Amino acid sequence: MSQIDFEAELLAAVRAVRDAALVCQSVQSNLVTAATLEKKDRSPVTVADFASQALVCSSLIEHSGIHAIVGEENAAELRETGAEKTRDQVVEHVRNIRGAGISTDQALDWIDVGGVTPDGSLERYWTLDPIDGTKGFLRGEQYAIALGLIEGGQVVAGVLGCPNLPGPDGSPGCLLSAARGRGATVRPLAARGDDGLEQIRVSDITSTAAARFCESVESGHSDQDQSAQIAAALDITEEPVRVDSQAKYAILAQGEAQIYLRLPTRKDYREKIWDHAAGLIVVEEAGGRVTDVRGNDLDFGHGRQLETNSGVIATNGPIHDTVLAAVAKFVDVG
Ligand code: AMP
Ligand code: MG
Repeated sequence: MSQIDFEAELLAAVRAVRDAALVCQSVQSNLVTAATLEKKDRSPVTVADFASQALVCSSLIEHSGIHAIVGEENAAELRETGAEKTRDQVVEHVRNIRGAGISTDQALDWIDVGGVTPDGSLERYWTLDPIDGTKGFLRGEQYAIALGLIEGGQVVAGVLGCPNLPGPDGSPGCLLSAARGRGATVRPLAARGDDGLEQIRVSDITSTAAARFCESVESGHSDQDQSAQIAAALDITEEPVRVDSQAKYAILAQGEAQIYLRLPTRKDYREKIWDHAAGLIVVEEAGGRVTDVRGNDLDFGHGRQLETNSGVIATNGPIHDTVLAAVAKFVDVG
């Protein structure tokens, strides 16, 4: 198998995620309103989600050497009768970026490029969450566009677009990227090329008493009662930082928190590969550690889900074993 040209692949991934993230940013600011919030109307996120997947896939086809894409979405729902309004809105956003000549079929086919299911024979592929943190998107809060590259069951590169996290220059939106052995960087979301690029590094604290921890806003995605018990056992006094999406990994990688707890709320839930691939590589390359609640590495070699893992614990590194020991006291790690 040929070697990956990491420079070229990261460049392709950054271009892909940036296009998608800028569209999501504009959809969120134009379509998420008091009225959609009040009605619990999910249509803005549906439009942005499909447009994002179409844009990332079309960009990877053009600029990446790797065309297998395991995305969260496929276009089946958009091809149904009754979906015309959403479909037209998705296509309009794709045309705004890729050109007025793009047909509806072309836009839907791009979404379906991301419909690959990995099996043992697929050695290398991208995995995409076109909008991670859909609930955050609809609340006008945090969400992310997450693209990871998997090879041999391990994440080897990734890009995380966080349109509502401040960039290194203070402007809204940042884009983090990392490749195995090459470190992790952040740049302003709207910057071109390598403008404003900075290396990032996790916090260097060695005592959990000085730590801040991140967790989901949604109590159904991570057990917040257990995390409070764990935080107390670790002498953590700061309130938890609750944010949606892989923005949690972005916050950890930039040293603004030291722990991310994702504690299973159900024994049978399996984490999805696209919910963790990009975040994991960014944190690890910024110097941190990522495992499941048992302390095992996340194994991306079992299809669309992390079949052999339970929950996720990410830290700045030095405090990881202490955090795992506290987790084992309160969580049934089986
Ligand atoms: P977050 O924004 O961190 O709360 O995570 C959002 C992600 O949680 C979504 O992309 C879903 O794939 C995932 N998810 C859905 N149900 C669960 C669950 N029961 N436990 C953990 N994660 C879940
Ligand atoms: Mg997700």
